Formats: sequence, C-alpha cells, structure tokens
Amino acid sequence: MRILIVEDEQKIADSLKASLEAEFFAVDHAEDGQHGSFLARTNEYDLIILDNMLPKKKGIEVCKEIREEGLKVPILMLSVEDSSETKIILLNAGADDYMTKPFVLGELLARIRALLRRPQQAVNTILEINNLTLNPQRCIVTRGDKEIYLPRKEFALLEYMLRNQGIALSRSMIMEHVWDENADPFSNTIESHILSLRKKIDLPNERKLIHTLPGRGYILDIRSSE
Ligand code: CA
Repeated sequence: MRILIVEDEQKIADSLKASLEAEFFAVDHAEDGQHGSFLARTNEYDLIILDNMLPKKKGIEVCKEIREEGLKVPILMLSVEDSSETKIILLNAGADDYMTKPFVLGELLARIRALLRRPQQAVNTILEINNLTLNPQRCIVTRGDKEIYLPRKEFALLEYMLRNQGIALSRSMIMEHVWDENADPFSNTIESHILSLRKKIDLPNERKLIHTLPGRGYILDIRSSE
C-alpha cells in the first residue's frame, strides 16, 4: 500500500513517514501544496494524508483538484483548526476524514487502516487465501501452522496481492502500489521480490498461489493446474 504525505512541517512529516514505513507502507512526501497536487494526480496512491495549511497551495485546494480529476483515493486531512465549521468545509471539499493537530499517532494509524479497508472488510481483518494468512496490523504471515518471516517489501507485496487476489496485476500496478517514487521502473526488482516471496510462500508440499501470467504480470489465486 502506497501513501502520500503532504505536509510542510518536516518533523511531523518525518515521524509520520517513519511510522508508516515501520508498518510496511511505501511512502512519498511532498512539502508544499503544488508538489502534493502534482504527485497525487501523477501516481496511484492508496491513501493521501493532506495538511491544510501548506505553502504554495492550501490543502483544501489540493483536495478539490484531486476530486476534480475523478480520483477516489481516500484523503485524510490534518488541520490545526478544530471548529466543526472547518471540518464540514473540508469534508465537503472531498476529504474522507479529518484530524486535528496535534494528533495521537496511534489514532491516526487506526484511521488510516479504517480508510484503507474495503467496504466489506473489518479494520482488523486478517487477509487469507487457501491456508495462507497475513495479519496487516501484527505483521505476521503464516502458511498452515508455520509462521513465515518476510522482509518489509515482500510483506508489502504479499499484502497488495492478497487485497487484490484473483486479479491480474501488471508490473506497473505492483510498482505503483508497493514501491515509492524512488524505485527504478526498469530494474528487475519486482521479479526478484516475486521470486523470493514464492520460495517462502509456495513451499514444495503446498498448493501454488503465486502465478506468472506471461506478458501480463502476476496473479495470486488458487488454481487446480500447475
Ligand atoms: Ca502546515
């Protein structure tokens, strides 16, 4: 899952970025409204954290621009003002949620998880397929009764594939949602991460879950063949 933080206060941005990366999110950061609006409309984010008081362009304007593009990405706005009037204005501009500064990090993370869930999923949902489970909050993966240790990127890759199981995922879709803007789109990083993940997940005596779709990408599902 890839998140964009638009925040001009470096300390807040740094601590948010570190906390989100510790939870295996890929994170990009923009320090003003203009750059934030550009990144939001250029890349495919799963969620945007948007401060309202920003240099160059206010958060509310950025929010409107994103919605005018027809993008449905969840937007969580931050603001020092806590009047219900401000709250209503921001929600009407297209924000999905709103938090007043200063905020408690734990609450922000809980709200992010709530915004990221699919409508039918509960916040604490454990993702699963066959006898493989992934707990996004506790960062635990199991296959059968065996716990599997995954490095950060492989965990994020598996989480993305589980949230989109049964759907063909192209390299660019995976790149957009699992890697941040510093990733090199021409490297073989996706292939090498898939290869490594496969070795750990698709054990010889288990049903294979990660399949290559030649020329199209990858899919996570249960297939009787192979
Ligand atoms: Ca600010």
